[in-house]
Parts: sequence; C-alpha cells; structure tokens
Amino acid sequence: MDSSDARVFEAARQAALDALRITDSVPEPAYDAVVRLASILCDTPISLISLVTRDRQWFKARVGLAADETPRSMAFCAHAIASPGEMMEVCDASIDPRFQDNPLVTGEPNIRFYAGHPLVDSHGHALGTVCVIDQVPRQLDHVQRAGLAALADVVSGLLEARRSSLNATRALADREFAYRCLQRYRSHLEQRLAQDNLTGLLSRAETERRSREYDAPGSNAPFALAVVDLDFFKRVNDSHGHAAGDIALKQVGQVINSHVPADDIAGRYGGEEFLIVMGHGSREQILDTLERVRASVEALSLPFPLTVSIGVAFGSRGQDTVDDMFNRADAALYRAKSGGRNRIELAGHHS
Ligand code: GH3
Ligand code: MG
Ligand code: MG
Repeated sequence: MDSSDARVFEAARQAALDALRITDSVPEPAYDAVVRLASILCDTPISLISLVTRDRQWFKARVGLAADETPRSMAFCAHAIASPGEMMEVCDASIDPRFQDNPLVTGEPNIRFYAGHPLVDSHGHALGTVCVIDQVPRQLDHVQRAGLAALADVVSGLLEARRSSLNATRALADREFAYRCLQRYRSHLEQRLAQDNLTGLLSRAETERRSREYDAPGSNAPFALAVVDLDFFKRVNDSHGHAAGDIALKQVGQVINSHVPADDIAGRYGGEEFLIVMGHGSREQILDTLERVRASVEALSLPFPLTVSIGVAFGSRGQDTVDDMFNRADAALYRAKSGGRNRIELAGHHS
C-alpha cells in the first residue's frame, strides 16, 4: 500500500468508526465483561477495549487504568491495528525501539508487556483492539492468545450488532419521515380536491361524497336538498365576458356560504349550478335560508342584474335517497325557470 492508498484506507476506517457513534458513549455491561474476562484470562492488571480515532485512543471498557483515553501518538493499539489480521505482542516495551521512549513506558502506567488483538469489522477495517497490559515483561501462552482472539471476535460481534441496530433505527426514521411527508401531501391534496377553486365551496366530488351520508339507514330525520342555478348566465358571459362571469359566480358562492349553516352541505355542482343539502332546522327555517340566498344574489351590486332559481325537495334520511331528492329538486328547478326565474319552487313528493 503506498501512502495515498493508506490515507484513503484510514479515512474509510475512520468513517466506519464514526458511523458506529460509539466514541464517548456510555459504558455497557457486555464490553465491561469482556475486559474483566481478558484480565482474568491473561492474568494482567490492565485490560482495555480501545478504539483508535483520528487523534486519540478512547476506551470503551477498561480494567486497571484511570484514564479513559490517551493521545493516539502514544497508543500501542495504533500500531496493533496496522496489521488487522494478527495479534501484536510486545514482551518488553522498554527494550523495543518503537516504544522505549513512549511516555506510557517511561512513566505511568509503566507499560512493559502489551498484547492487543485488532477489532476488525466486516469490511476489514481495524477499529481498535482488545488488549492486555502488564508492568512486567511477559509473554502469553497459546491458550491465552486463542482466548484473546475469541474475545476480539466477541467485541467485533457487538460492534456489528450496534451497526445493524443503528441502521435499522435510521431506516425506520427515514420511513417514518417519508410516511409523514406522504400524509401531509395527501391531506393537502384531499383538501384541494374537496374544494372548488373558484367559489371556495365544496367541489362536486366532495358534495357527492358528503351527500351520500344522507343515504345511510337508521335515522328518519328530515332534510332538504336544493339545486340553485344562475338565471340567463350564458347572456352574462356573452355580453360581459367570462372573467366578469367568474366574479359573479364567486360572489354567488360567497352568498351561499354565508347563509348555509357550516355543518350543512353547500357545493358547486356544475358550471353555474350549486347544490345545498340541509339537515338542520325546520322546513320554514330552511325555506327562509333559501329565500335569503335568492334575495341576496338579487341584491348583489354587479355591473349586470343577476338572479338565481332554486328547486327544493324535502324528505327523510334513510327513506328518500339523495338521487331521488335531486331528481325532484331538479324538476322543481325546471318549473322555477319556466315560471319566470328568480324564484324558489318546492318539489312534489315524487317526480
Ligand atoms: P338558464 O336561466 O336557463 O339557466 O340559462 P343559462 O344561460 O344560465 O343556462 P345555460 O345552461 O344555457 O348556460 C349556462 C352558462 O353558464 C353557460 C356557460 O358559459 C356558463 N358557465 C358555466 N360554468 C362557468 C364558469 O365556470 N365560469 C363562467 N364565467 N361561466 C360559466
Ligand atoms: Mg343557468
Ligand atoms: Mg345550469
């Protein structure tokens, strides 16, 4: 590996360690148990799980050492991870040219013996070591070496589990975020589809959807369905232009909206036709509301006279279907038109 390859590999190793978000994390019993076991197995006063970051080695778990990190420049483990596949064993650091001037050898904790097994992830990155340290020169026997290698495998497994769990958490968060965006978009879309752009009343689809609730069996409560149609509106468009027609339509929408109770249904059903379904109030109150709609449209101050004709049918929920009521109201509207327009006609009981 030349030096630029080494830099790339080290950057990837750092990224793998960063992704684990383990540096400076709180102690965890499984890691603590590993270092206790390592010390018992190798009979050393010091045992560490060391993770080698950019500028320091940080101990995820430790026995026999007060410091929870040392500078990377002093780290034995930084040497150990240079050969990810194998254990590094230093029998007497005081006579090893790599370490004899190391402050951890010349001063506290006076390291003489070091054995560290790299912690290798699934991509071959050595993230740190499990290591044992003594203050006297020593050597491990083959059982201790095999045991330390097995403990390194255990810690690598713990790190891999941590990575999977972080990924799963992240994937879940991503999914939840996408889901929330979708919900917001959906309700935004539903709102737009439910509303008629020009008049702000309910759209045709929403009017139909809400009207269908009146077909549910169970209650016999009275309700009324009214069809409101602008009179001679084609003439308005023809002589004043479509834009002026739109303004008039919008104002009629406002009149209807301001008179029909909020929990009743008022929608734009066709180009210049509106549908009102009212399930509250007496027949007199409903007719009074419709009369106020008619009179208010007539009183609008527009550059041209504008009136509406209204056909209205009364029935009972669950007995008279909305379709049936619509046909009756429409027939009444036809009579309102032929009778001179600008009036309300009541539907007969059946058309
Ligand atoms: P009647 O009194 O018999 O209902 O006569 P009318 O002219 O109102 O009826 P007709 O069905 O012949 O014409 C309806 C007109 O409504 C035709 C169309 O140009 C106009 N219209 C429908 N939708 C819109 C709209 O969104 N904006 C405008 N400006 N005009 C519309
Ligand atoms: Mg009309
Ligand atoms: Mg019409």
